[in-house]
Amino acid sequence: MLAPLTLDPAARPAPAFLGGGPKKLLIDGEWVPARSGATLPTIDPTTEQTLTSFAAGDAADVDLAVAAARRAFEDPSWSAITPYRRSRVLLQIADVLEANAEELATLESLDMGGPIGLTRWFVDHSVEVIRHYAGWPTKVYGQTAPSDPSQLHYTLRQPLGVVGAITAWNGPLLQVAWKLGPALATGNTLVIKPADQSPLTALRFGELLAGTDLPHGVVNIVTGMGRTAGEALINHADVDKISFTGSTAVGKHILEASTGNLKRVTLELGGKSPNIVFADADLRTAAATAALGFCAGAGQGCVAGTRIFVEESVREEFAELLREEMAAYTLGDPFHPDTRMGPLASRGHFERVTSYFDVAREDGATLRIGGEVDAGAGLFVPPTLIDDVTNDMRVSQEEIFGPVAAIMSFTDEAEAVRLGNDTVYGLSAGVWTRDLSRAHRVSAALRAGTVWVNTYGRMTAGILPFGGFKQSGIGREHGTEVLDAYTETKTVMVQL
Ligand code: NAD
Repeated sequence: MLAPLTLDPAARPAPAFLGGGPKKLLIDGEWVPARSGATLPTIDPTTEQTLTSFAAGDAADVDLAVAAARRAFEDPSWSAITPYRRSRVLLQIADVLEANAEELATLESLDMGGPIGLTRWFVDHSVEVIRHYAGWPTKVYGQTAPSDPSQLHYTLRQPLGVVGAITAWNGPLLQVAWKLGPALATGNTLVIKPADQSPLTALRFGELLAGTDLPHGVVNIVTGMGRTAGEALINHADVDKISFTGSTAVGKHILEASTGNLKRVTLELGGKSPNIVFADADLRTAAATAALGFCAGAGQGCVAGTRIFVEESVREEFAELLREEMAAYTLGDPFHPDTRMGPLASRGHFERVTSYFDVAREDGATLRIGGEVDAGAGLFVPPTLIDDVTNDMRVSQEEIFGPVAAIMSFTDEAEAVRLGNDTVYGLSAGVWTRDLSRAHRVSAALRAGTVWVNTYGRMTAGILPFGGFKQSGIGREHGTEVLDAYTETKTVMVQL
């Protein structure tokens, strides 16, 4: 592996936010330590040094935050404001994010290791998402139903109440924005539990809310571990909904926990997405985009296209193009201008990802490109392509969540679809072909929440629904679907 690009430690950014002692919890508009007084460190994965520490919230803190969110939900300062006013507050939130974009991107790169270009995109996207939802408070309608002339029948769309928002470490601010936007647009209140590996941008975001007209208690933030703070939130009897982004294993556990008070649940979970390349495709563009599909964010993306299926006749040609594209993913410090891939987000995750190199070998596969890490070179993993793979091997079926893909081949369309669908996941898929009819046929046949044709990984800021088939999740974020996920429909029948 080439040595990662490094910067002089003195030249690395040190935002003022990192100073001033342990970060606290945001409860009812106040910053307070955890009731237990406990804190946790947050580590810079590039240097493996501690950046700062933050409150290790637990059930006692979650109780306080949920009570604050409930009070805020019932308070007319939030429940009775006009739709225009609610829009205005969301626009203010977008504005404070935008005004502090560079600081937020810097904190994100320090905390989770994404290259600064990627984390700038995370922040810009979050701003767009919040602006998108700022348009909704004035447009969520109920319906008037046909009825006996002596009656008036109609429906109301009403908020659920207190929403627990639990996020993963790979897109920390972005995932908060995806949940907060629709939850607030429809009048809910929130308790956010950020990922314990990368809580900083959510906390800085919480501070920035003080510059808006959002009433106290509408947004609360409780940092801490999943097994303490997260567990308390998912089991809390006064939480009406959990919106979760994270692993399928924890998602299943949340679904079980939701039965206590029949919480509404949205789950955005893992994936093992197929990227299918037919021989008639623009192979150069397909190779460049396929590399991006599993190397962007060092492969720590739920939609990573980690099973690449290539039509047999062009397999070797495509593999060579892919090799060239993968070589452009220079590893290094997220702030180095030439870095295209930063470190993995934590030591534990690095160990897990690299353990798959042995798994691949033991199962008879070949590490065709990459697959080596230098001891002492930090948490950097080079782009890795596994060959001589079958779709039933662990490396083809388990989510690795690093820059590691398997290349396989197929001989006809039916086989491509069968192999593509042969996974417990169903988050996304890619199809590369110049044959328009085939593009639509294969898109319809793939069991995935999003299918990209002659592109990969594009996201809209709220417009199109996003979510998974099968074990990639339940429900959708974005689109008009998300409005249903944050509202109850009430039927009203009036005798005139
Ligand atoms: P994770 O499931 O370990 O953790 C996610 C969040 O859940 C964290 O905040 C964690 O503290 C919390 N948590 C953990 N145990 C909990 C418990 N018992 N009760 C309540 N909360 C708990 O996931 P991760 O490793 O942080 O993230 C990677 C996973 O997230 C991957 O599987 C990835 O595919 C998935 N992901 C999905 C999407 C999507 O939109 N579909 C987006 C990003 C990441």
